[in-house]
Amino acid sequence: MKKVLVANRGEIAIRVFRACTELDIRTVGIYAAEDENSMHRFKADEAYVVGKGKRPIDAYLDIEDIIRIAKDSGADAIHPGYGFLSENIEFAKRCQEEGIIFIGPSLTHLDMFGDKLKAKETALAAGIKPVPGSDGPVNSVQEVLDFGEKHGYPLMIKATLGGGGRGMRVAYNEKEAKEGYDRAKSEAKAAFGNDEVYVEKYIANPKHIEVQILGDSHGNVIHLFERDCSVQRRHQKVVEVAPCVSMSDSQREEICQAAVQIMKHVGYINAGTVEFLVEGDHFYFIEVNPRVQVEHTITELITGIDIVIAQLLIADGKDLHQDIGIPHQKDIELRGSAIQCRITTEDPENQFLPDTGKIDTYRSPGGLGIRLDVGNGYAGSEITPYFDSLLVKVCTFGTDFDKSVQKMRRALKEFRIRGVKTNILFLFNVINHPVFQSGQAKTTFIDTTPELFE
Ligand code: ADP
Repeated sequence: MKKVLVANRGEIAIRVFRACTELDIRTVGIYAAEDENSMHRFKADEAYVVGKGKRPIDAYLDIEDIIRIAKDSGADAIHPGYGFLSENIEFAKRCQEEGIIFIGPSLTHLDMFGDKLKAKETALAAGIKPVPGSDGPVNSVQEVLDFGEKHGYPLMIKATLGGGGRGMRVAYNEKEAKEGYDRAKSEAKAAFGNDEVYVEKYIANPKHIEVQILGDSHGNVIHLFERDCSVQRRHQKVVEVAPCVSMSDSQREEICQAAVQIMKHVGYINAGTVEFLVEGDHFYFIEVNPRVQVEHTITELITGIDIVIAQLLIADGKDLHQDIGIPHQKDIELRGSAIQCRITTEDPENQFLPDTGKIDTYRSPGGLGIRLDVGNGYAGSEITPYFDSLLVKVCTFGTDFDKSVQKMRRALKEFRIRGVKTNILFLFNVINHPVFQSGQAKTTFIDTTPELFE
């Protein structure tokens, strides 16, 4: 692999360029016309406009134009990042047809895990229990009501092709089930172009625990321990912690082994994440994300393993242990504690609506134990309304959870961002809250803690 095109923008494009540069691989960036001043463009060795004349998001989804740029620039591989085309089977197939390496899993695995019902079937076949739910899609309100009658409320209606916390409705009774069915269906249709939904038992107040996996083309599958992503707003992650503070070593071992079991069962290749909901001693599989995730950063901090470099080398056919130099499972060490906060250009005082405009002041924290993955965070940067509002990911690393909390409080205090509103004060309230600091925050923590918004 000599040259890699990154079919993405912002911080994740820059993240991948960095890994390539360390491996002495040349980088190709793409940017929508509206992104002509976006930092990722300047961080690539060469960069080209993509999807001319298309709407900004559609430009990054223009499969044929991306393939054209890859071929014209002589790229032999494409990294899709997260979001955009990262889980798009058509895109991965086009890469294959053109002899371009798609840095991600196989078409089979994209298909298997893009569909949450197929994913649950796969987990079950591997001997791991998913959240109890309908056997397949539900095709009428009556089927939802029947499920509620048989298994009790609350229940959750979910889009089969869902992602990003969308297309999900909780129902506590029949009335809500009826409303929820229609809403989940229309939301699914609008967001994913497919209105298929299914039902599962709503786990009242779980922890969201996910396990980072790496698999190679030589049959090796390992885990890099878990992340606690329970601090969510409307089912979307806000703060992530690794490892989970409130889990015993034996439960950690059990859950990490369960994740490996699923991924070994399917012969998974490249980076992936197996997600679970944990309620007391029980854990239930929910889904697999077959790509690098936003919060891979904190796993890198606690294991010292570079996940993106691993992705590149795995896609180039290398062996996890012999070629990439990652230790065997029993020798992978978990050290210290890491936290990530997602700083967004959203206004907490106005329902977290994205804010836009020019950043006049941008001063970021630094020092021991701070990691920053920045997209367009700099003085003079113009925040447009077209894309995701993630501005910078700040991670802290300490010898234990209390120390990484201490560092995060300091890091958030040290930030000065003016000209565009951000969620920094809100994040500070989360980090400062006793429930967060006890390590006991569950998925409903933000939505049920009004003082975080003060
Ligand atoms: P997405 O793919 O949109 O991220 P997930 O299936 O990963 O959706 O779920 C996202 C979040 O929604 C979970 O972390 C959890 O907080 C909540 N959730 C999903 N399914 C359930 C469930 N059955 N019971 C309770 N909460 C759930």
